[in-house]
Amino acid sequence: MKKFWNKKIEAMPLDELKNLQLKNLKHLITWVYSHNRFYRERLSQAGIQPDSIKALEDIRKIPLLNKADLRQYYPFGLTCVPLEKIIAMHASSGTTGKPVVGVYTHKDMDIWTEVMARSLWANGLRNTDIMQNSYGYGFFTGARGHELGAQAIGALTIPISSGNTKRQLMMMKDLGATALAATPSYTLYMAEVAEKEGYTQDDFHIRLGFLGAEAWSEEMRTKIEEKWGMRACEQYGLTEIIGPGVSLECTYRQGLHINADHFFTEIIDPITGEVKEEGEQGELVFTTLAKEAFPVLRFRTGDIASYTEELCNCGRTFPRHSRILGRADDRLKIKGVLTFPSQIEEAIMMSPGASENYQIVKSRHGSIYGYKVVVEPTTDYYKKGNPELLQKKIIDDIHTILNITLPVTLVPPGTLPRSKGKAKRVVEE
Ligand code: ZN
Repeated sequence: MKKFWNKKIEAMPLDELKNLQLKNLKHLITWVYSHNRFYRERLSQAGIQPDSIKALEDIRKIPLLNKADLRQYYPFGLTCVPLEKIIAMHASSGTTGKPVVGVYTHKDMDIWTEVMARSLWANGLRNTDIMQNSYGYGFFTGARGHELGAQAIGALTIPISSGNTKRQLMMMKDLGATALAATPSYTLYMAEVAEKEGYTQDDFHIRLGFLGAEAWSEEMRTKIEEKWGMRACEQYGLTEIIGPGVSLECTYRQGLHINADHFFTEIIDPITGEVKEEGEQGELVFTTLAKEAFPVLRFRTGDIASYTEELCNCGRTFPRHSRILGRADDRLKIKGVLTFPSQIEEAIMMSPGASENYQIVKSRHGSIYGYKVVVEPTTDYYKKGNPELLQKKIIDDIHTILNITLPVTLVPPGTLPRSKGKAKRVVEE
């Protein structure tokens, strides 16, 4: 049985991989220069010509691109091919203002298929599998990306989309799904509904979970694996780059391997924009090296992680980024400490009596914000446990991890809203 989907690329010696990146980067600059007016203006203003790139480090001369820039060119301003070459589109899930529209040529769809197949293959999806695709079909890239990869491998996809959870469970059982693609929070919600509906683990055959589109803690992963009896793998990607498939977790779970032949990675200081050293934490920045219709140069993702080129035991030479700690904009300043919701989640999950349903409630008192954490105990604990003890343990665990004291409130199971897509962990009162 082959270990890699594409051994030649995934296990290519690192220096060869870097040569390939440089070759593709030079081609990319020529491509955007000759195919897009805005990129040409942007690059010439920064003093960059197609032949200015001699080494990979020269990429740092290119101005950083952020989401606001992409919105400014909405919808097709940064497109580098004529309409007759475009065969697909998706859009980011912007909650405010205009979304970012990503368009694809045949070649772009081939790239997407390839990187998704690598990712699903690395975690054990094979042509005998049936993958329930519970990401939302539509503008969101999650569902399409997973379907493309599974199809390339030859696995059957159940295109059920998100929502209608009781029907999801019925189909999952009846069709004998062996893999599940969904957000982590929805995966847990499905388990909760399954329990209520009287299903047991024996009713299902899910052995693999391809979960992503939100930051989730290692503790949450353990909980998901226990509830479903599956191995849960993290998937990472974003519409602005291609969709899911930017990086893949291998079975060693030491961060995520970046599909580096297609995506060049930098970590920058989110405040100054300066490039950080290997191993340091900062904001992930990607450059798409071979996309045609909608390439991006030095796109700031807003996601916080670190980066390493250290070789992994799996044999892949692809550099890795750590699991995503959170988004730079989601960071909360609580009593002077910069905190990610995922760190609070980690603390909550340390108590066996706490369920995965929690919210961080932000309230304004004059010019300062106050925070409290609302947690649902598990149904069992709610019936038989000691709420005061649980409350105290969560307060202590948050203090151990973050060195701050936050008020914790327990509410009866089923009180907090459930998510069918990306969970909303922070709410404002
Ligand atoms: Zn690996």
